[in-house]
Amino acid sequence: MEASLNTYQDEQPPLQAENFYRKHEKNSKLSGVKKDIEKLYEAVPQLVKVFKIKEKIGEGTFSSVYLATAQQQAGCEEKMALKHLIPTSHPLRIAAELQCLTIAGGQDNVMGVRYCFRKNDHVVIVMPYLEHESFLDILNSLSFEEVREYMFNLFKALRRIHHFGIVHRDVKPSNFLYNRQLKEYALVDFGLAQGTPDTKIELLRVVQSESQQEGSVHHSVQRSVFGERNFNIHSSTYQESPTIKLIKQSKVMDVASRKLATKKKIISTKAVNNGVAKKAANSCPAILTCDCYATDRVCSVCLSRRQQVAPRAGTPGFRAPEVLTKCPTQTTAIDMWSAGIIFLSLLSGRYPFYKASDDLTALAQIMTIRGSRETIQAAKTFGKSVLCTKEVPAQDLRTLCERLRGTNSSCAKSTSDMHTNSLYEPALAIETDKKVEFASQPLGEQIQRLKNNCHEGDNGLEIKITGKATDLKGWDRVPDEAYDLLDKLLDLNPATRITAKEALLHHFFKDIRQ
Ligand code: ADP
Ligand code: MG
Ligand code: ZN
Repeated sequence: MEASLNTYQDEQPPLQAENFYRKHEKNSKLSGVKKDIEKLYEAVPQLVKVFKIKEKIGEGTFSSVYLATAQQQAGCEEKMALKHLIPTSHPLRIAAELQCLTIAGGQDNVMGVRYCFRKNDHVVIVMPYLEHESFLDILNSLSFEEVREYMFNLFKALRRIHHFGIVHRDVKPSNFLYNRQLKEYALVDFGLAQGTPDTKIELLRVVQSESQQEGSVHHSVQRSVFGERNFNIHSSTYQESPTIKLIKQSKVMDVASRKLATKKKIISTKAVNNGVAKKAANSCPAILTCDCYATDRVCSVCLSRRQQVAPRAGTPGFRAPEVLTKCPTQTTAIDMWSAGIIFLSLLSGRYPFYKASDDLTALAQIMTIRGSRETIQAAKTFGKSVLCTKEVPAQDLRTLCERLRGTNSSCAKSTSDMHTNSLYEPALAIETDKKVEFASQPLGEQIQRLKNNCHEGDNGLEIKITGKATDLKGWDRVPDEAYDLLDKLLDLNPATRITAKEALLHHFFKDIRQ
């Protein structure tokens, strides 16, 4: 009695204080949003008559998104999403985003647009509101069937925009809204979209040529994995992965691609004549050759070269190898790679799957899954030469995903022999613990640990398996087709990578409601 009273008294003051601060924090955040809403009404006064702006639902580098209700004629209220673009956005960029929504949107899981308001440099795009889940919140509770439906609906959206010659360039969970209950989906955010050479979106052509001339400032902006604030803090040093170097093409090739811009030289990107560039180098003046190839120095000839500029917009961790290696010709295939990364997250239960602070680290991380030789080979096909200090083998995708998810059959077997007391452990607590631990670790290390866990019959992972044995939600019966499709999405070579249209016809979806 006394003891419990003591605990009570002990805990009371800090609890109260905590509540006070939490409330205070919430209040100041609320008043911040309130101010933002007031400012928006002031900036675009036309909104006042039509909308009641309720709350802020998204804040990114290029926009703030609000939930609002509109009074309909019939007397009922309709929920809308108001996207207020930052006033410094290029007018052409804004117009192109709008044109993507108006022409490709409103069908096949692509977000449509209702109205657009503008006053001076303030633009507000009004879309139907789709309430949606946070990917991270639901990742580990999704059934396998839900994942299959999710991917099917993502490909439907991608087939539609690719049909119009739109490359989205920022395909990731926060740009693909998912309402689990209603089974509704919507691809949003055409803020970084580009057109294919034959795009049906007229303004994407204009944006393209403009950004080429300007050296594309917008493209170099990195986006956060979570879509809102930038959580992209430097990841811990990557130990397992090999050190790699990207060898740039000869100057002649650069001139031919007409994508030169005078920018500061990045040391890790060296420009030399090399084996791959030989064809072009044959006609290359001798003065352009150098002798730092395959060394870790950068010679003065190379230092004086200009950096190759290629679009590299998007979110680290979702970038395709051809984006990471600055391949100047990028197609709709880059969106399919990103879809593959989402699929990889869904199958492995890990998000974000890749966390990298720079492009070459990201490429090294890809190598640890797809193999270094394979990556180098693929890069050759799009004219990039990659140097790598260490060879890492490709991994079997099923084995990898099952290990990370904890549904590995060989692990499960060894568990059943020695699980008696682990059954009574709080599986969830340990699982959460583990996740935090893994998330902060470089992926290579995670994989190594998981391998060790399996072989040595270690604890954490196995408890998870036993604890969840009652409802595996289909995760114990993932068909080979799933991994076959994943393999085709994560094809290192964009020329052979599966298209959205083909993906929808893949055997994995054979019995799905179309
Ligand atoms: P940004 O370019 O700043 O990333 P987005 O268009 O991706 O802007 O919108 C940011 C966030 O706002 C989205 O991740 C989503 O959570 C929310 N959002 C955007 N459009 C809608 C919508 N039509 N319905 C509901 N939420 C939306
Ligand atoms: Mg976004
Ligand atoms: Zn050199």
